Amino acid sequence: MTPDPIIQTHNLRKIYGMGDIQVNALDGVDVRINQGEFVAVMGPSGSGKSTLMNIIGCLDRPTEGRYFLDGEAVSELDKAQLALIRNRQIGFIFQSYNLLARTSALRNVMLPLIYQRNGNLPNSEREEKALAALEAVGLADRAHHVPTELSGGQQQRVAIARALVNDPVLILGDEPTGNLDTKTGAEIMVLLHELHDRGRTLVMVTHEAYIAEQTQRTIVLRDGKIEMDNHNGSRQGASVSFDASDRVDDGYRESNADGVTESGGAGDRSS
Ligand code: ADP
Ligand code: MG
Repeated sequence: MTPDPIIQTHNLRKIYGMGDIQVNALDGVDVRINQGEFVAVMGPSGSGKSTLMNIIGCLDRPTEGRYFLDGEAVSELDKAQLALIRNRQIGFIFQSYNLLARTSALRNVMLPLIYQRNGNLPNSEREEKALAALEAVGLADRAHHVPTELSGGQQQRVAIARALVNDPVLILGDEPTGNLDTKTGAEIMVLLHELHDRGRTLVMVTHEAYIAEQTQRTIVLRDGKIEMDNHNGSRQGASVSFDASDRVDDGYRESNADGVTESGGAGDRSS
């Protein structure tokens, strides 16, 4: 029996620019990702990784081709419909965290619940859920801090809590460890592994081979096409030993001393 795909694309194309200069950011991408997979997306700068993630994450639409998310043909939807699907089904983690700067960690995590159209939750329940999500990333004691009072690793954990708070079917990361030092990046990977162990589907862009190796499957893009799509073989069990060796509370505490990292700008086109 084949498992149900969470992501299925057919001949996905994204063309930027009009007139003479056109960029084929995606040039016919067919990809199928099943429920519960942990997938790394690699490839040189400009190969289309962010473009693919933005389409998979319902932040953008393809120029051509079809995309089915959890069986639904989302490539056919308009922007407002996409926003609803995104809010309900997808948690997105960016390289530059993308937190609201003057807003507490708690409020940042509550945002997806505030924007939710149907099932309007009372505020107390939103707070409860957001606090639970912060607790899950080890940051309950920082709930009332604003991003500038948090280290880069802590800000990214707030962003992960925000990505989790709606209980999405799919968690996407566009270089979620890209702005972090190796040790803090490893702590973020521990969190992502925990999510995967609990059955989530994760797809993340990374430049680092050692991070890609911790996932189950690596997709390599080049010039908007899939150049390689490999299962990472025996690495599938790696999360177990990784969890055990790296999950020390001191690591979190030490990351406070990293110095304060202000969250970057809106876009995530840095690479
Ligand atoms: P990666 O994330 O792999 O570095 P991107 O998906 O950001 O690559 O970009 C793929 C290609 O599309 C690049 O040539 C980039 O310059 C181009 N591109 C990306 N976004 C835009 C945009 N909004 N307008 C025009 N060109 C873009
Ligand atoms: Mg990119």
